[in-house]
Amino acid sequence: MKYPWLNALTTLLTEQYQQARLHHGLLISAPAGFAKRAFAVDLAQNLLCEQVKQNQAKSACGQCKSCHLFMTQAHPDYLLVEDENAKTIGVDLIRRLVVKSQQKAQLGGAQVYIVPDCERMTEASANALLKTLEEPGLQKFIILTSSHPSRLLPTIKSRLQQYKVSPPQVSELTDWLNQAGVEPTNFSQVYPKVIASPLLALDYVKNEKQQAQKAFLAEFKALLSGKITAVQFAQQFNEDEVFQQLEWLEFALGAWLESKLKSQVEKTDAAVIRLKISDLYQQVTQCKQLMLQSGMNKKLLFSSLCSRMRQTLVSG
Ligand SMILES: [Zn+2]
Repeated sequence: MKYPWLNALTTLLTEQYQQARLHHGLLISAPAGFAKRAFAVDLAQNLLCEQVKQNQAKSACGQCKSCHLFMTQAHPDYLLVEDENAKTIGVDLIRRLVVKSQQKAQLGGAQVYIVPDCERMTEASANALLKTLEEPGLQKFIILTSSHPSRLLPTIKSRLQQYKVSPPQVSELTDWLNQAGVEPTNFSQVYPKVIASPLLALDYVKNEKQQAQKAFLAEFKALLSGKITAVQFAQQFNEDEVFQQLEWLEFALGAWLESKLKSQVEKTDAAVIRLKISDLYQQVTQCKQLMLQSGMNKKLLFSSLCSRMRQTLVSG
């Protein structure tokens, strides 16, 4: 369930490997934000796993020697060709792959090499890779990923079996976003973005929520400092997001308590403040319970909660 839109292709290619008909050079293409690199890494672990090799598992077992080495990034028959600081994939990196591919497998299984975003290869790099792509040798697999496969040299492309990652289904996406802790209320608006690029959309949704929370808490601060009235603050009310907003209020209460306790020295004052806050927490909980009952005017409940908060927190 990590990236549900990748499951079908991972299964397909792992099965091809088990049936000894997996092509030695794979090009995985999809727009940016489809987790292609993670896909290639997961597939590599599958191909290297001893259980998968012996047809005793459909995906990497996580238990065998090979899986252990892989997970500790110490697998001798695996190489991820990457330099995060460089814009291009230079020929030195590709030569490392070429040299490694000429060695025998140390664990006696498959050997797997990954070149993420392979369109970043320089011409010299691409040429250095050509011969290896032509005849890598038995049980050696090279997985290239790309968001722009059209930029690849035709000589490279013609030596690869190309697979496009299919966009996710709506149900897969809702589950996935929920698991990522994101429940967009306006899913129909978010969906086109998500389908075009799930990972970028997740950032977008999270970011949007953070912005909303920030704005909400800034207004709450203005309420406590007397810059705005409770009625003005209640304008923040959003029927679709109100339970989220109440959580933010609880968070703000906690932060307020902490800051007060830091500045207060008198023990009795601290006790009074704690009592006030615990009373307000209870009021938020009550407010939530009332809102869950049908026929209640949520906006009214929210407004009266806000004025009680202001009264309690501002008076002393
Ligand atoms: Zn394994």
